[in-house]
Amino acid sequence: MGVGLAYHLGHEGWGNDTVLLEKAELTSGSTWHAAGQITHSTSSFGLGKCVDYNIGLYSGGLEAETGQPVTWHGCGSFRLAYTTDEMDWLRHTLSVGRSLGFNIELVGPEKVAELHPFYNLDGVLGALHTPDDGHVDPTNVTMAMAAGARQKGVKIIRQCRATNITQLPSGEWQVETDKGTITCEHVVNAGGTYARQMGEWSGLQLPMTSMTHHYFVTEPVPEFEALDKELPVIRDDKKVSGYIRMEQKRGLIGIYEKENPNSVWHDHCPWDYENWLFDADYDRVMPYLEESLNRMPIFAELGIQREVHGAISHPPDGNPLIGPAPGVRNYWCCCGTQIGIGWGPGLTRELARWMVHGAANISMREYDPRRFG
Ligand SMILES: Cc1cc2nc3c(=O)[nH]c(=O)nc-3n(C[C@H](O)[C@H](O)[C@H](O)COP(=O)(O)OP(=O)(O)OC[C@H]3O[C@@H](n4cnc5c(N)ncnc54)[C@H](O)[C@@H]3O)c2cc1C
Repeated sequence: MGVGLAYHLGHEGWGNDTVLLEKAELTSGSTWHAAGQITHSTSSFGLGKCVDYNIGLYSGGLEAETGQPVTWHGCGSFRLAYTTDEMDWLRHTLSVGRSLGFNIELVGPEKVAELHPFYNLDGVLGALHTPDDGHVDPTNVTMAMAAGARQKGVKIIRQCRATNITQLPSGEWQVETDKGTITCEHVVNAGGTYARQMGEWSGLQLPMTSMTHHYFVTEPVPEFEALDKELPVIRDDKKVSGYIRMEQKRGLIGIYEKENPNSVWHDHCPWDYENWLFDADYDRVMPYLEESLNRMPIFAELGIQREVHGAISHPPDGNPLIGPAPGVRNYWCCCGTQIGIGWGPGLTRELARWMVHGAANISMREYDPRRFG
């Protein structure tokens, strides 16, 4: 979110006036371990415009601009429905996508079977097919956006931790860091899981907590060896409560468990944490993991080679906090983003427009931090 905003402030004309601070190395919060998926299947009109822009950046635009590879996998995706209510939701999402001109269709299970012959489709009524979706390497994307920001004059200072943010009587902001103090007109909090405690320095109570999320990577899948094309990502919200895709010739299973979710760092996120992962909690995700193996029987006898269990910041309604902080002038939030790879560049472009020109191009109501009072 930080490099995304720096990149877009550069594009909107503030590049030479922008400094991005990073306490460790870029990506070392939540971003480095993200699974990197992005989809056109969204039921919000404004967000739809953002993801379409992001897919354009990831699938060629950013690489052409900066010369930095982002490792785009344009494998497409399906979102499955098992009930008539879910089908109604897919129809709603379809109408949003169509009105935005996306390549999106509602299909029957036979189409899923044709493009993904390994998925057990018992009980599936239909699916939303979004062929232009895919996944991207989050670290490469971050480095490419940082390169694009630098090309526009943005200064990025790594290994530099902000330690306090206060407003001067002049209205300017004073950012103290472990390497000195910066006085600035605008300050942006893009601290990821640290954003809430950073907000406290300036008297803000940002409504967010850190929830943990798992994905698992299996041993190589023999059936994948012969494939000449990557299978589409499957989003199975009901049975798997998550997503299944190929990770090269391995399987990747991501789970957002619907019961007993786990929140961490209720007090504060330790400042010295970098690239932090938690031990896998199999008991918590087991019902969904078992169902994943039922849905992908070719995974059932394979071992799990890699467990990724990391924290993501979540506001209570699931939408990020993007916009002015309540009650303080020129303090902006760019945080609380649980789908930062999928949503980041588009939302930070809108925030840059808001900061530089006074208004975004889409309605920011769903993301405005002031919606919580
Ligand atoms: C297992 C897993 C899988 C995921 N898969 C996906 C996915 O498929 N698609 C998707 O869109 N999202 C996914 N996510 C979510 C995604 O990782 C986050 O939404 C995203 O990384 C948030 O980005 P951010 O920039 O807000 O936070 P971060 O990446 O945490 O960045 C915040 C940065 O601020 C720095 N910082 C904090 N405090 C200070 C300070 N005081 N001074 C200086 N620097 C500071 C930190 O070091 C950090 O680098 C996944 C997350 C997990 C855990």
